[in-house]
Amino acid sequence: MTRENAILNAEKMFDDGSFFNLLNRRVTHTTESQNEERSDELRDYLTREIGPYLEGMGFTYEVVENPVVSRLPFLIGQRIEADDAPTLLTYGHGDTVLAMTERWQDGLNPWRLTMKGERWYGRGAADNKGQHSINLAALNCVLHERGRLGFNAKVLIEMGEEMGSPGLREICNRGKKMLLADVLIASDGPRIDPRKPTIFGGSRAVFNFDLSLTLREGGHHSGNWGGLLANPGVILAHAIASMIDTRGRVLVDGLTPERIPDSVRKALAELEVTGRKGPEIDPQWGEPGLSLAEKVYGWNTLEVLAFECGNPVAPAHAIPPSAWARCHIRYVADSDPEKFHAAVQRHLTAHGFDMVKVTPVKRSLFKATRMDPEDPWIKWVVSSVECSTHQKPAFLPNIGGSLPNDIFQTVLGLPTIWIPHSYGGCSQHAPNEHLLSALAKDGLRIMTGIFWDLAENPPIK
Ligand SMILES: [Zn+2]
Repeated sequence: MTRENAILNAEKMFDDGSFFNLLNRRVTHTTESQNEERSDELRDYLTREIGPYLEGMGFTYEVVENPVVSRLPFLIGQRIEADDAPTLLTYGHGDTVLAMTERWQDGLNPWRLTMKGERWYGRGAADNKGQHSINLAALNCVLHERGRLGFNAKVLIEMGEEMGSPGLREICNRGKKMLLADVLIASDGPRIDPRKPTIFGGSRAVFNFDLSLTLREGGHHSGNWGGLLANPGVILAHAIASMIDTRGRVLVDGLTPERIPDSVRKALAELEVTGRKGPEIDPQWGEPGLSLAEKVYGWNTLEVLAFECGNPVAPAHAIPPSAWARCHIRYVADSDPEKFHAAVQRHLTAHGFDMVKVTPVKRSLFKATRMDPEDPWIKWVVSSVECSTHQKPAFLPNIGGSLPNDIFQTVLGLPTIWIPHSYGGCSQHAPNEHLLSALAKDGLRIMTGIFWDLAENPPIK
């Protein structure tokens, strides 16, 4: 009964094709949450696939109705071994974005897992069926080797993540007792580099707002009125220019963090941001004095997403009556989004733009979260991954993008550990989505190691 054997089980499962077959079966479920006609398929994924699989591992489960969008149910499963054992919560989503069948490469069917070289193509292969399948399979490998997990396990699967996770917050709020745990360990998103095992603790979040200015009704001929009438497009452009300088530095007091905590700065210093396979990075853009990693993981940005005045499709010789811009702030956990609206308003007033209206875009958004690199759970998981891969993993206190992680951190009060099993080029949300076979195998190894260690030496006082 050893850690090595448990990991050998995981490798065997990959090598003999049984993990591929398992994932293929899951990929055949046409679980598009953005397609209103897929209600039965979404439910079937839970009742015919995940539920029975969990029962096979000695879990009980129930399908929990979604209080917000009824066609997007949840599954909560649990295997309780002992009151005094550590308790794991793991999470995944079984829904996918639309298949986009017509746009896949020849010979590929989004609803069948197809192996081509190192790539396993299929809708959901990376986001997120492949990732939660790795984690559940790893639990199984530990179970086989040890005869029990050595901890209590709870599994939460949602079917509406690609719709913005409606109902997830409510389910967690209501099910606080049921979902009580010591730690969340889950997988989604890409590694920082395909060859680098990656751990992240949280995510940045987004605050969207509109700037608008209407000076009068209707446009007026520029020959007769130009020079006599103020142009709202010009005024709004100046207002934005007062907020961000020509090199992308945010000039509004209260929109950026006071500082980057030392422990975060230290963790970020080990990360290399190359933008590999993406557009070329503009090193001069953004907050001066910050490294590339600090800019994208440790700081806030203010962006203009869209700007409109007049009729961009058919410009007329007229002074437009109004102008509009959609802006957004991507922020880290130590910023308070409740203060952004007032900060922007205060700035515009102070700069003589009080005629510009600031309107936050209402949407129940996720809040930013982060894990301190010094947290005992992070130290524990870093050493577990290192032990399984003989490689120092990259640790990101938070990713640059967004994730519903605040539900787990603030509603359930859990330390949160994310271990992505995919990579930036996986085409999630696009045609030709795929999982890299080497990452699947590595993921099985890593997660089996983590779950083995959870029973042996969890960092619980
Ligand atoms: Zn997705």
